Amino acid sequence: MLKIHNTMTGQKEVFEPLVPGKVGMYVCGVTVYDECHLGHARSAIVFDTIRRYLRYRGYDVNYIRNFTDVDDKIIARANREQRDWTEVVDQYIEAFSRDMRRLSVEIPSREPRATQHMDDIIAMVKGLIDRDAAYVVDGDVYYHVERFSDYGCLSHRKLSDMLAGARVDVDERKEHPMDFALWKASKPEEPAWDSPWGKGRPGWHIECSAMSISHLGNTFDIHGGGEDLIFPHHENEIAQSQALTGQPFARYWIHNGFVTIHAEKMSKSLGNTFTIQALFVGASYQEIVTAEVIRYFVLSAHHRSPIDVRDDSFQESKRALNNFYDLFLRLEEASESRHGGTSADHDIDRVLMPLQSGFEAAMDDDFNTPEAIATLQRARGDLNARVSAGVSSDVATRVLTFLRQIGSVLGLFQLQSKAWEFGEKAAWTTQTTRDAIAELSNGDIEVMIGERQTARSSKDWKRSDEIRDDLARHGVILEDRPDGTTRWKK
Ligand SMILES: [Zn+2]
Repeated sequence: MLKIHNTMTGQKEVFEPLVPGKVGMYVCGVTVYDECHLGHARSAIVFDTIRRYLRYRGYDVNYIRNFTDVDDKIIARANREQRDWTEVVDQYIEAFSRDMRRLSVEIPSREPRATQHMDDIIAMVKGLIDRDAAYVVDGDVYYHVERFSDYGCLSHRKLSDMLAGARVDVDERKEHPMDFALWKASKPEEPAWDSPWGKGRPGWHIECSAMSISHLGNTFDIHGGGEDLIFPHHENEIAQSQALTGQPFARYWIHNGFVTIHAEKMSKSLGNTFTIQALFVGASYQEIVTAEVIRYFVLSAHHRSPIDVRDDSFQESKRALNNFYDLFLRLEEASESRHGGTSADHDIDRVLMPLQSGFEAAMDDDFNTPEAIATLQRARGDLNARVSAGVSSDVATRVLTFLRQIGSVLGLFQLQSKAWEFGEKAAWTTQTTRDAIAELSNGDIEVMIGERQTARSSKDWKRSDEIRDDLARHGVILEDRPDGTTRWKK
């Protein structure tokens, strides 16, 4: 029986979907104006794993994760780099998709973009004005928080408490300081859509209400995101949606915890926000890591707890995975041998059955991945002992298949052990492992770096990234220095 900790009630609740056998799940995606960092990776991996487990449990999961593709930060970047805002959007959607592929995060059922739902958004804002839950001021539309009696239900705060100690902009045009924008009149040169209130664009919160309802209906099963989204983003989504439909919005709210670096919050000013790109190509971290190393690290903490990155965090995860892959190598060898049955064959179920039930019990308990991993580790010891005692090739094959199936729920154990042993640098490009490691001459490297410089000076970031990735696959790490030059090392 699957139980989920619901942020709304603060309790673990038995999961019962609205429609038996089906799950509708909406997770807030990224605002596409920059490279994604480990915090984004964590959220993506956590909800990917939740989706995989729901599927393992037999549910048909309709998983929606959006892109916020119109926003102040996107416009600011486009202005700074003197290019069209849609170019910025395309570049970072592509970068995000590349990172997700690298992290073995499966593509959601749908990835809607806010700008594809402009009609839904405008209809929703109009409906809220008609219901007197919103009002128009000079082409802007604000949500009237005092008209929604449940405001604060998710973050467990009262309107009056929110004001105390909060830094609230005093805006004379708003009826209540906590009122938030549903629609913003656009300035000249900004992206704009026609609306009954003049040219403008949507506020951030309304787009998620519009996209989730349009894909999943007024009421759906699971809404997720990072815990930083509880207030105000998710609180506002509830207020907008329920004021409009008069029906409950999401039924289970799941929030993942923060990622800290050496116990400090990641922030651009501290310079400790290493990007997923940097993790994979080693530009700002000591070592190139693989999808499975990052997933193991992320899933070794409960999704609701904070997770701290230390210097040895990834090495620790790598070591733990090495131990599993050592077992897989032994099992692969045994499966290729021509041994008949031995006494160990009969009681292999005595390891596999408790492993399966232990794994399921852990995951049923609010997707407790650290406990699931601990169960796998305990079984590993037992299985090593059985292999030492001798197993038949059939049993070895069965155990391997079993471990890979269980592991696939976490996105782990999916490589051939030889590919794993071959080295973490190339493991995420398993198909091309061999040519990936082929030596490049110093001359070749200099030519490629020159090509990348040219791409960078003409702002062809995509080409520049491709060359960097290509070099990384050959074991060459680049370091861009503040003076504009690039250093490299093997
Ligand atoms: Zn959202």
